[in-house]
Amino acid sequence: AKSSGRNTHRFFAEAMNVEAVAHLSTRSGLRRALERGEFLVQYQPQVNLDSGLVIGAEALVRWNHPERGMIPPGAFIPIAEDSGLIVPIGEWVLRESCRQAAQWQSAGLSLTVAVNLSARQLQRPDLADTVVAALADSGLDPLFLELELTESMLIENTDIVLANIRKVKALGVQLSIDDFGTGYSNLAYIGQLAVDKLKIDRSFIADLCSNHDSARITAAVIQMAHSLNLTAVAEGVEDHGTLDQLRHLRCDVAQGYLLGRPGSADVVERMARQTSVF
Ligand code: C2E
Ligand code: CA
Ligand code: CA
Ligand code: CA
Repeated sequence: AKSSGRNTHRFFAEAMNVEAVAHLSTRSGLRRALERGEFLVQYQPQVNLDSGLVIGAEALVRWNHPERGMIPPGAFIPIAEDSGLIVPIGEWVLRESCRQAAQWQSAGLSLTVAVNLSARQLQRPDLADTVVAALADSGLDPLFLELELTESMLIENTDIVLANIRKVKALGVQLSIDDFGTGYSNLAYIGQLAVDKLKIDRSFIADLCSNHDSARITAAVIQMAHSLNLTAVAEGVEDHGTLDQLRHLRCDVAQGYLLGRPGSADVVERMARQTSVF
């Protein structure tokens, strides 16, 4: 797993030059990639900090370009968002992720799959229909699907966005607020939205052990999550010191390179069969 992680890193480093791939990420380039099946989903394990059990995985899209190799989402998602192509790409990721989670379920593993939504998707009046179709076609129990939204997507709290949140919640799908702490959420508003999880932004976790402010913010977010009856998730956990600190702060779930890099579904499956990853 270590060496494949390094490989992924190396391929990414080559494709990291966003400028260099920008000309590929045109509307027609991305449309063609979708038709040719060049996108793939990698899964990063999420671990319960009490039990050490893998409870699920975040689905992260990559573009496996025939010449450029693996292109990270940061190099094409913003362009896909501008052109609107994020809607069909996002639907493909959702379907693929539901299919994978349903397969985990058939294999006897109750793993939640967390899928990132973009603002464009959340603004579509047919979002809930798309989710219903992905669940029905895969046979996945809605309880094992989680949708990740960011605070900034909620600032534009239009009627459509609020209706979408209500509709997907009514299906039994879980909701999490991604990159929490970087936006300007109205806390009362978050409380009203019936979200299930807060994912503390990686920037706070990265210097949790070295920066007093980050440590205090992280502690406060965990406390707030618990007082609102939400699960606190830490992302970007890279070392044991940070992991220990998060357990001390009673954070519920962690995700990061220390526990597992994004990779194939098989790796997540193997980890999920362990009694504890610690
Ligand atoms: P995100 O949702 O905040 O995802 C977490 C990012 O942090 C991922 O980068 C992941 O590989 C990386 N990461 C995980 N653990 C660690 C760690 O320990 N250290 C460090 N330094 N990084 C870590 P990735 O895969 O490059 O994705 C970047 C962003 O692209 C995501 O950020 C998300 O905003 C977006 N994205 C990825 N997949 C999708 C998708 O299917 N749809 C949409 N709309 N956006 C996506
Ligand atoms: Ca995310
Ligand atoms: Ca995040
Ligand atoms: Ca992010």
